[in-house]
Amino acid sequence: MSSPILDVQGLQTSFFTDDGEVPAVDNVNVSIDSGEILGVVGESGCGKSVTSLSIMNLVPHPGKIKSGSIRFKGEELVGASDKRMRQIRGNEIAMIFQEPMTSLNPVFTIGDQMMEAIRLHQNISKKEAAELSTDMLKKVGLPRANELLQEYPHQLSGGMRQRVMIAMAMVCEPDLLIADEPTTALDVTIQAQILDLMRRLNEDFHTAILLITHDLGVVAEVCSRVVVMYAGKVVEEGSVRSIFKNPQHPYTKGLIQSIPSIHVKKKRLYSIPGNVPRPGIVKQGCEFAPRCPYAFDRCLAETPKLLETENGHRVRCFLHDPSKEEIHV
Ligand code: SF4
Repeated sequence: MSSPILDVQGLQTSFFTDDGEVPAVDNVNVSIDSGEILGVVGESGCGKSVTSLSIMNLVPHPGKIKSGSIRFKGEELVGASDKRMRQIRGNEIAMIFQEPMTSLNPVFTIGDQMMEAIRLHQNISKKEAAELSTDMLKKVGLPRANELLQEYPHQLSGGMRQRVMIAMAMVCEPDLLIADEPTTALDVTIQAQILDLMRRLNEDFHTAILLITHDLGVVAEVCSRVVVMYAGKVVEEGSVRSIFKNPQHPYTKGLIQSIPSIHVKKKRLYSIPGNVPRPGIVKQGCEFAPRCPYAFDRCLAETPKLLETENGHRVRCFLHDPSKEEIHV
């Protein structure tokens, strides 16, 4: 078995506001093997994006990594210098976001931006960087790659911009690509093309992909393993096959139920009632209890632990805790 390329252990990231500490990521463990595609899923506010920003050491002020370890290819990133992180970002770990316009600079051409990204990490001429850029634009399926280098982001469609972002992210052949909701802003046809492209690049370059999404349907398309997050914690994890065949956490069950199906005709699409609580607001008990149809007394009195229920499948829920004694409050 290969050792993980990224190993996050006991990560705690909080925001320190005037109202006190807000724990956005609470003791999260996530690991990803070389060449693996791992999905991290949950509604917005569950801590997925803060986890990925912590890995990149880009948590915005007033946020801070409080404790834990983030090892990338065996190297500890928590506490790494800004200089070291700049060498790693874009070169060994790349990131793409939901809205490419937030990452692409509207006043520079695609070529300028791609070549700058390459020459930041590789000591090569402008001509060589231009050739690499053209090659990568072709690999992500963009037509007339040569002319595209001279164009500005606003001249491209949303799907083309996302392909450009992926080309920019992949041009230095990173070992890990973090994709944060890469298809959310796109229509379904383009979404399917982008997911297919990511799967192909993963095969061709053996790049590990950490795919962050609110959509379990997207996870089912491309991932081999999935981590489900709720209120800053991992609540379930396992292979995609075992999570879809045998979801154990009521939250995961709700997410699966919310996936639209072409085979079942429903008047209204299911949605989990209620909202994700503000991080840190639930002081005692299971954070999902106010939304959980199975909640019982113990859920309000104790916080469940993440326990392994079968090979590689872990769940944080008293319904799957072998010590099932009930505490009455
Ligand atoms: Fe629901 Fe209780 Fe399980 Fe939490 S621990 S998910 S409230 S049954």
